[in-house]
Amino acid sequence: MLMSIMEKGTDIAKAAEILRNGGLVAFPTETVYGLGANGLDPLAVARIYEVKQRPSFDPLILHIGKPEDMTGLFRNPDDPLILALSGAFWPGPLTIVAEKQAVVPGIVTSGMSTVAVRMPQNELAIQLIRTAGIPVAAPSANLFGKLSPTMPQHVQKQLKGVDYLLDGGKTSIGVESTIVSVSGNGITLLRPGAVTPEQLREAVPGAIITPYRAPETEDSGLAAPGLMKSHYSPEKPLYIFSKLPRQIKPGSGVIFFTEKGDAKSKAEETIVLSPSGNLLEAAANLFTALHDMENNPFVQRIFIEQIEERGIGVAIMDRMRKAAYRHSTGQQAD
Ligand code: AMP
Ligand code: MG
Repeated sequence: MLMSIMEKGTDIAKAAEILRNGGLVAFPTETVYGLGANGLDPLAVARIYEVKQRPSFDPLILHIGKPEDMTGLFRNPDDPLILALSGAFWPGPLTIVAEKQAVVPGIVTSGMSTVAVRMPQNELAIQLIRTAGIPVAAPSANLFGKLSPTMPQHVQKQLKGVDYLLDGGKTSIGVESTIVSVSGNGITLLRPGAVTPEQLREAVPGAIITPYRAPETEDSGLAAPGLMKSHYSPEKPLYIFSKLPRQIKPGSGVIFFTEKGDAKSKAEETIVLSPSGNLLEAAANLFTALHDMENNPFVQRIFIEQIEERGIGVAIMDRMRKAAYRHSTGQQAD
């Protein structure tokens, strides 16, 4: 595996200084690692696109260190829905999209009039953002369309040109934040994540909640890569199964949700996401397992077991379908 040379450590003061000076810092959040830049500096944000090799400018999430910091970013920070959602879920894995103020550069929002904002829960992330004293624009710290990073090594494997990598070990949630857009008395779920529709309903009982709709086509006209049908893909063919085929070819890697003893002997490598069947644990291990399979030179194709779509299971299956989209499901191929 080719690792790029990238300074790595836990020096928050140094990382914050780099951000203030227009540099790039990869840092852990509780969801996945982010590739951060000063969110109010268009040139710094432009470097994010360069390093990620994103083919187009797509909107980024602005990360803040205190809930009050949203007042400088949203046009109506006193909106009751925004207050209720941020009060209930920040710090945490919920991103709120709403009308922006003029200070937010167009490169952050892809020219849209709305901005996405989140206060993460990870202690290193909070300290970094507070020390830098600026909103930090950060998409996931991976190459465009590839697996999201849940460990510092995943960032080193994919990216070149990052000025500092803040090392916080493995991320705890492991799938990207839930994204909602807020307008009038309505909330629209744009991306499933650890915060579930049930939790949202409980936090804002009066609001009209439009459920998440998986994209119908490869390019369904939605502006953002995380919302496309194919995304988060490993370098090897990936197939989702409900029942593992009796005969699997040599060179197959198998990722199970819970323990499945007898298949172990047939596969090149097997990984169990959660022996006890805990969906939160499975989410935390999902991208790590896919990275491990991608790194194993003896694994040529990956099979992954489908899981129950309840709670964070909806987000896990959403990421799995996007990762497997380029390959037909349930079949073995070369
Ligand atoms: P990432 O940070 O890589 O997980 O991706 C950020 C995601 O935030 C994008 O894929 C979009 O889905 C979403 N996003 C950011 N800003 C907006 C916005 N103004 N409107 C809708 N979605 C947004
Ligand atoms: Mg991403």
